[in-house]
Amino acid sequence: MKLWNSNPKWPWPHDDDISKYIDVPEWWLVGYEEVRGFLRGLTKAQLSTVGKSAGGRDLTVVYYGPKKPERTLCATGGTHGTETEGIASITNIIKLLESGADLRGKKWPAFQRVAKRVGFYLMPLYNPDAAARSPVKSYVGMPIDLKDPSDGVHHLHIGFWKNGRLLNRKRVFGPWTPQSDVAGRLDRIAYLGQRFNDAGRLINRPRSRKKSMAVETMQMLDYLKNNEIDCYMDLHSHSSPPWLGICPPQHTSGDHEQLVKLHELTAKMTKRAGGPQLALSQQDPSRWYNSHFFPANLGIYAVTYEAMAGFKGNYPDDKPWQEIWLANAYNGMHTILGLAQALLKVPSPWK
Ligand SMILES: [Zn+2]
Repeated sequence: MKLWNSNPKWPWPHDDDISKYIDVPEWWLVGYEEVRGFLRGLTKAQLSTVGKSAGGRDLTVVYYGPKKPERTLCATGGTHGTETEGIASITNIIKLLESGADLRGKKWPAFQRVAKRVGFYLMPLYNPDAAARSPVKSYVGMPIDLKDPSDGVHHLHIGFWKNGRLLNRKRVFGPWTPQSDVAGRLDRIAYLGQRFNDAGRLINRPRSRKKSMAVETMQMLDYLKNNEIDCYMDLHSHSSPPWLGICPPQHTSGDHEQLVKLHELTAKMTKRAGGPQLALSQQDPSRWYNSHFFPANLGIYAVTYEAMAGFKGNYPDDKPWQEIWLANAYNGMHTILGLAQALLKVPSPWK
């Protein structure tokens, strides 16, 4: 009799134990269940919701700031579930604004000062469906091979069919096409990776200026509009040094010159706050990302941030993992701080 294998080798193609990527510092608060529990324990935060994910999970947002903020900023982590660096940055900011110190006990007086003027809408899990299915909490030390994508990172991130083949990377990473989503083909998927919601829709590839097939993004569009949020920030990670991207002029209905000014000021203020030297980039118009979709529809500011993930090869082999986690969490926090300070220097797009 052939039995179902409840413990298949996938998605992990290596000899080492995948559980080592769950073993993270206590202050690296990124797991779906832990983050949900952490949010339930907050007493000073104002909680609201964007709606429900495709899989029915709550899209919780935590607000800290004055009643009448001068500017508002919405930062979201975990758009791609295994990119936990942004989740760690956001949960540490939540702890800081809740209690006066981050999850390591560090105080950030400049952050506390800017939170008296800027309202922070903080969403640790933009794609909770992916977070809930993620088998890891960290990329630190994980093997990656960009030329041979049968490695750990790609298996975890992209997902694969029941025949073992990875999903087509061009369709998953390229501009949206009807073949990019796997809705309607879910019965052929063995593991859905970290870029899709539970409906098999790419979370960060709107179909066009007007429409995203991901319910999360369509609801976020309403949420940003209803709360008149000035700026949206989407946190990711990959192999580049800390990086900040904005949309090209044709992807915003707002003032692109002010967006460029915000972009440059953010780099300056992030550095001044003790953060990284951000690589600045303007994306090409060949594809839609959420950080283009919201400016196109609302005229608001938006940026995409990429942390330098802890994959093998991104950092020297002898660099202690603790230092990589620390750099990842704090670089994101410094960038959010720099962005909030810079936002006070440009006009609100809603005025
Ligand atoms: Zn990403």
